[in-house]
Amino acid sequence: MQTRTQHFLDTPIEYLKGVGPERAAILKNEAAIYTFGDLLKLYPYRYIDRTQFYSIEHIDNTQTYIQLKGKIKNIQEVGNGRARRLTAVFYDNSGQIELVWFQGLKWLQKSLSQTETYILYGKPTWFNGKMNITHPELEKLADYNAETVGIFRSMYNTSEKMKTKNLDSKAIFKLMQQLLSQLKPEHISDMLPASILSKYKLLNRLDAIRNIHLPQTLALQNEAVKRLKFEELFLIQLNLLQLKIIRKREAGIYFEKIDATFKSFYDTHLPFELTNAQKRVLKEIRKDTLSGKQMNRLLQGDVGSGKTMVAFLTMLMAVDNQHQAALMAPTEILAQQHFAGLSAYCSQIGVRMVLLTGSTKAKERKHILQDIASGEAHLIIGTHALLEDAVQFHNLGIVVIDEQHRFGVAQRAKLWKKNTVLPHVLVMTATPIPRTLAMTLYGDLDVSVLDELPPGRKPIKTVHRYETQRIAVFEFMRDEIAKGRQIYIVYPLIDESEKVDLIDLQNGFESISRAFPLPTYNVSIVHGKMKAENKDFEMQRFVKGETQIMVATTVIEVGVNVPNASVMIIENAERFGLSQLHQLRGRVGRGAEQSFCILMTTHKLTADGKKRIQTMVETNDGFKISEVDLELRGPGNMDGTQQSGNIDLKIANLATDGPIVEEARKAAIALLEADATFNKIEHLSLKNYLMQLNTNKSFWQNVS
Ligand code: ADP
Ligand code: MG
Repeated sequence: MQTRTQHFLDTPIEYLKGVGPERAAILKNEAAIYTFGDLLKLYPYRYIDRTQFYSIEHIDNTQTYIQLKGKIKNIQEVGNGRARRLTAVFYDNSGQIELVWFQGLKWLQKSLSQTETYILYGKPTWFNGKMNITHPELEKLADYNAETVGIFRSMYNTSEKMKTKNLDSKAIFKLMQQLLSQLKPEHISDMLPASILSKYKLLNRLDAIRNIHLPQTLALQNEAVKRLKFEELFLIQLNLLQLKIIRKREAGIYFEKIDATFKSFYDTHLPFELTNAQKRVLKEIRKDTLSGKQMNRLLQGDVGSGKTMVAFLTMLMAVDNQHQAALMAPTEILAQQHFAGLSAYCSQIGVRMVLLTGSTKAKERKHILQDIASGEAHLIIGTHALLEDAVQFHNLGIVVIDEQHRFGVAQRAKLWKKNTVLPHVLVMTATPIPRTLAMTLYGDLDVSVLDELPPGRKPIKTVHRYETQRIAVFEFMRDEIAKGRQIYIVYPLIDESEKVDLIDLQNGFESISRAFPLPTYNVSIVHGKMKAENKDFEMQRFVKGETQIMVATTVIEVGVNVPNASVMIIENAERFGLSQLHQLRGRVGRGAEQSFCILMTTHKLTADGKKRIQTMVETNDGFKISEVDLELRGPGNMDGTQQSGNIDLKIANLATDGPIVEEARKAAIALLEADATFNKIEHLSLKNYLMQLNTNKSFWQNVS
C-alpha cells in the first residue's frame, strides 16, 4: 500500500491527461511542478462563487472577475496586423457589454454561436471610456453543470510565461479536475494521526485536498484550508521540537561554580539593583548551565529592559568555570559600545576582554587571535568577524548573540561548531517579536522574557508633527537644550549607498547648523559612509556632552546608550518600519528625565504609514508594536526574518493564523511527549512521512 501511495503522487506530471512534454516543461520551470503530488500542492489563491450571476446593468469598475449569463451577437474582425482582433457583443435582459479577443480568432469565428446561451466568466475593464471584457471564458449553458464545474471556481496564480502558453488559471483548474478524478483514497495517506484529527476537528487529508481545489461548499473550503494550514504548521513544530530534543541530548558544559568573579562583581560593583525580571531570567540561565545539557535560550526583552547586564553576568558564570565567553553583535558600532560599556566592569574584577571586528587592524588582530586561542582573553566581543575560520577559541563556554534577528540560523550553527563540546547559546532579540513568530522562528529554543523595565523610567512621550510645524519643533529643541539635554535627529538611510538619502542628510545637517549656530550650539553628524575613526570621534563628542545635537542615519539604531539624550526626532518617519521606529525611540528615555520622541512627516501618508505613526504615538509597548508590525508587513518582511526558511509557508500565514500555530505546537508537544519515537501504530503514517522527507537525519539515527 505504501509503495502504491507513493507511486501515484510521484507520477511525473507529463503523464497527466492534458499535459504532455511541452506543458510539463513549462510547469517544471515556471512552477516547480514535477509530479502529480506537486500539482496538488498548488493551492488556489481565491475562489469564485459560480452560483452568483451578475446583471450587465450592474457592472461598474469595482468588480474583478464576474460571471454573466447571456447571448452573443455582432461577431466581427476589426483592425489590421498586430491590432487585428475579434469583437462581439454580449447581452442579457439588462444590457450589453463588448467582448474582445486578440488570439485564436479563426477558431473563435468558427465556434461561437449566436443562438446558444453562454455562461461568461471574465474581468471587466475600462478601455477608451467603454467597459469590455477581453478573452472571457465562455461555456455553453447546456454544458454548464455545477457538479463538474464545481460550485466554486478556484483561481490559481500562474506566471506570464504560463499564461502565454495557455496554462492560465482556468487551464490549471482543468488539470486539477482531471487529477482529482483519478485520485483514490488509497493514494493519500494521512500523516496526521486520527486522535489529532478528532481533537482539533480537522478534515482528513483526502477530503482537504479535494475541497481546497474543488470545494463543495464554502464551509468545506474553510475546513480544507484550516486542515492544510494546521498540517503545515504542525510539521514545522514537530521539526523544531525534534531539534530541541536532539539538543537536550547533547552534553553541555557544566558551569559548576559561581565563584570570585561573579560574586565580587555582583556584590560590590553592580551599578544598580537588578529588576525582578532580570533576576528571574538569570535563574533560568543558571538552571540551564547546571543541567549538564547545552543551553539554547532566546531572551526576549523590550528596548531598554536591560538585556546587556543579563548577558554580562551570564558570561561571568563562564569565566568562573574557566571558560571563555563570546558576545556577538550585528554592527560594528554596537560591538564597540558593548566593549566600551563593559570595559569598566571588567577592569574592576580583573577579567580580560578583547574586541574583534572587521576593522580591527592586522597587527592588533594577530595579537587578539593569539589571546583568543591561548585562552588569555576571557570575554570576546565582536561582530560577524568572530565567525571567520581564523578565530580559534581556547575553551568557549557560551555564546551570546545580541540582536539575534539579524543573524541567520546557519550563522548561529557556525559559531557553535567551533567547539567539540557545544557551548551554551543565549540569543537576544533587539525588540520583541510576536509570540506566533517566535514560536515558528525560534521554536527550537527555550524562551525567557524580560517583561519589566528598570525602575524610575518615565514613559517616553511621542508626538506626530508635520513639516509645516518645524519652527515650533525648533523652539522645543532650544528649550530642551537650555535644560541641559541632548537631541538625536535621525534621517532615513535605507540603503547606505543611496545618494539621495545622503544628500537629504547633508541638507538636514546644514539647516540644523544654521538654526542652531555656533558658539551656543554644537552639532555632530554621523553616517555609515564616514571613516570609522571620524564616526567614533563624533560619537565620543556627543557621549561626552560636547555636542548637543547628533544628526545621524540609522547607524545609531541599535544599542547606542547616551542617558543624557532625551529627545529623538525622526525625519521622514513614514519611511521607517515599526520595529525600527521603536528601536530608534529606545535610544532616549534612558536617564531620569522626561524624554520625547517627535515623528516628522509630510502630509502625504499612506494608510500603512498612518497606522505606523499612530501606533507609535499610542504605545511604548514593544510587544504590542511588534504585533501591529506583523499585521502590516507580514512575517517575511519583518526585520531580519528573511533568512528563515520557516517563514516561507505555502498556505499558513503567521500574521493571521496565530491560533492555529498555537494548536499545532500544542499537538506536536503532546505527540512527542506521548511517543517521541513514533512507535505507536497510529503514528506509523506520520513516521513514514517524516522519514521520507528525511529531515532531522540525526534525530532518526538516534530513533532507529
Ligand atoms: P537593552 O535590553 O535594550 O539591550 P540595555 O541593556 O542597553 O537594554 O539597558 C538599558 C539601560 O538600562 C542601560 O543604561 C543599563 O545600564 C540600564 N539598566 C539595565 N538594568 C538596569 C536596572 N536593573 N536598573 C537600572 N538600570 C538598568
Ligand atoms: Mg541591547
